[in-house]
Amino acid sequence: MDVSNSESENALVRQTDTLVVGAGLAGLFLTRELCLQGQQIELVESRNRIGGRILSDPVGKVDLGPAWLWPPHQHVLGLLNQLNIPYFEQYASGHGLFETQQGIQRIPASHSDVSYRVKQGWQSLINRLLDDIPSQTLRNATQLIAVDKTQEGICATVKQGDNSIEKIAVKQLVLAMPPRLIADTVDFIPALDDSVIKTWSGVPTWMAGHAKAVIYTEHSSWRDKGHSGFVYSQKGPLVEIHDASDSSTHALFGFIGFDANQRSAMGKQVLEDAIKHQIQGLFEVEIKGIVIQDWSCEPETATNLDRISPSHHPRYGLHPTSLWNDRILLASTESAQQHGGYIEGALIAAKQALTTINSNK
Ligand SMILES: Cc1cc2nc3c(=O)[nH]c(=O)nc-3n(C[C@H](O)[C@H](O)[C@H](O)COP(=O)(O)OP(=O)(O)OC[C@H]3O[C@@H](n4cnc5c(N)ncnc54)[C@H](O)[C@@H]3O)c2cc1C
Repeated sequence: MDVSNSESENALVRQTDTLVVGAGLAGLFLTRELCLQGQQIELVESRNRIGGRILSDPVGKVDLGPAWLWPPHQHVLGLLNQLNIPYFEQYASGHGLFETQQGIQRIPASHSDVSYRVKQGWQSLINRLLDDIPSQTLRNATQLIAVDKTQEGICATVKQGDNSIEKIAVKQLVLAMPPRLIADTVDFIPALDDSVIKTWSGVPTWMAGHAKAVIYTEHSSWRDKGHSGFVYSQKGPLVEIHDASDSSTHALFGFIGFDANQRSAMGKQVLEDAIKHQIQGLFEVEIKGIVIQDWSCEPETATNLDRISPSHHPRYGLHPTSLWNDRILLASTESAQQHGGYIEGALIAAKQALTTINSNK
């Protein structure tokens, strides 16, 4: 990202102790903790909304990003309990279906261990964290584009929604954004070692290449017929489908099997029609609406490298997560030492950064 000299020179310079970049779960949680400790902090977010990969459909409240947490995710369970955010077990009563080109067979209700979903979607956790962050601390539509090492510390250059450039002098910078995005979109002066950039580029951003569909229905009638809503399909377009209903919503959600390039070639309408056809063939339900969220089309999450998704869950937390004597810290889920890629990892990464910030003081 190039900032022309004249633009850069005219930029307003402000100061803050800590600048957190990225208002996903990791950045928001860390900012909230630092605010509660009374520290001077700012949070900038490039999107016009907060939550990052966490996104619940504003109308139906079904999650378009992450849906589940599992019993080993103790940091998340602890936070939900502490903030009184209700969660419930993923519906898995009855039997599942296995769909192939040859037909449909019954299989056990679900393929995995017990999992939980958050009532009204994960956005409720994001909104609750925001309650404890003073409004002047957060700026949306503000993208970090460059980081300079200065004699006094660090100078972060951000581009705002109106394209104006601002410089912020900081003592501590936390990049709560995926390493691959940092490598792709942020300039460092002096330039970072090629090996660091190469390593960060090689860290897949978890689920960035995927697309999810939520299908709202008139009733959860599959339940009445003894179906759990779980489908494993070799036919598609949805390759895995689950019940997404709760007390006020009737819905299913599924992962789209086509990769990012195939999805772009198909176009949204063709994909939507194919999903409708598949769901009606499986459950004979009346469909009220479909929402498709394609994460590979969001430049604040995915780069071109993410258009091809890893075949397995990568081992995360192996890349450099601090620079310039710990004055720059990485803190997205991909930097977590355990549970990297998951929501749990986002909290662990934020807590790792918090420990370092407090020991740097
Ligand atoms: C479809 C899907 C399904 C998933 N399912 C699950 C699941 O069931 N369970 C589970 O545990 N996890 C799941 N995940 C993973 C989970 O969403 C992530 O682990 C978690 O949300 C990551 O949070 P984060 O704060 O680390 O990163 P992010 O949420 O990616 O936050 C990074 C933030 O940085 C911002 N940003 C980026 N660049 C800049 C910049 N230059 N300047 C300013 N801001 C910037 C972004 O806009 C974003 O808000 C899923 C993810 C997806 C996409």
